[in-house]
Amino acid sequence: MITIDGSEGEGGGQVLRYAAALSLLTGEAFTIANIRGGRAKPGLMRQHVTALEAAAAIGGAECSGLAVGSTELTFRPGSVAPGEYHFAIGTAGSTALVVQTVLVPLMLADAPSRLVIEGGTHAASAPPFEFLSDTLLPVLARMGPRLSISLERHGFFPRGGGRIVLEIAPAPLAPIDCRVRGAFKGGKVEALVAGIPSDIADRELKTARKVLADWPDEAFIPVHLPAERGPGNALLITAECEHVTEVMSAFGQIGVPAERLAKTAAKRMAGYLASGAFAGPFLQDQLLLPFACAKGGAFTTVKLSEHTRTAAALITRFTGRGFAFSESGDGKWLVEVQ
Ligand code: AMP
Repeated sequence: MITIDGSEGEGGGQVLRYAAALSLLTGEAFTIANIRGGRAKPGLMRQHVTALEAAAAIGGAECSGLAVGSTELTFRPGSVAPGEYHFAIGTAGSTALVVQTVLVPLMLADAPSRLVIEGGTHAASAPPFEFLSDTLLPVLARMGPRLSISLERHGFFPRGGGRIVLEIAPAPLAPIDCRVRGAFKGGKVEALVAGIPSDIADRELKTARKVLADWPDEAFIPVHLPAERGPGNALLITAECEHVTEVMSAFGQIGVPAERLAKTAAKRMAGYLASGAFAGPFLQDQLLLPFACAKGGAFTTVKLSEHTRTAAALITRFTGRGFAFSESGDGKWLVEVQ
């Protein structure tokens, strides 16, 4: 039984999700206290409960302490059962983070799976749908499994109501070398608005254009979604390189000017492009678990995040497998599975 202090390191939901995935992959039970102890409002939120319910469902696990607000739980894994599953978060909690919990165990299962997940698809502090479809899954597919994902309906904060469908055809994971991202092929900036004034999209695009000044006019695209999908707003900045496509995002928030959100996301993209690295600031922690399961591989990335350091330590505790992190001097980092 592995004992985890959920307030250590990054101290958020990721520790819990990766612990559940690692438990299913290794067969090791775990108990976690101080869940999300590093967050302003600690304990399980609805989306974490659904993520753990999903892990328990696909892994025949017993999980005690699973309730909104709970700060401690114990998870005893069974065996992974691929198949058809439907998980509904019931809030705008992130569908992508439910995917993050069950994806690697199902990629290594002995038969295909099809998941329908309902909740948020474009909300703060989580990967938007396009990060899954364009950034993460294409990299993982290079390791062996066949993965396809579709967005059936957007889900914004606070209403949720989004729906994604993920199909997984498993395969053993092969190590891959992601040191080089290749030539920049083009970028686009999409400002999604649903049921809110369209000038919000215009202001976001105008701000992003000032930062990404060498991108052509036609790269800046307002996207008007049906009002009944809203209210909601997301800015998606996509850069396609030869070997990876990165998506940086921002999500409309009451009280935060559209210009400020757009500037932060655009600067993040500009920093990523200037770095020459393969993985941006969010892809890096999400590559660690599949790379560890492949027992090899390497990628370059921008400055290491606390999420990455925390995930690496957790993976080492469950699997004994470590990572070597080295800085190349120009601010770029190399991550290698040991
Ligand atoms: P936590 O904050 O502990 O719940 O973990 C959040 C997870 O979502 C981490 O794996 C982050 O890398 C990922 N994440 C957060 N924001 C984004 C974003 N804008 N794009 C892609 N991934 C994100």
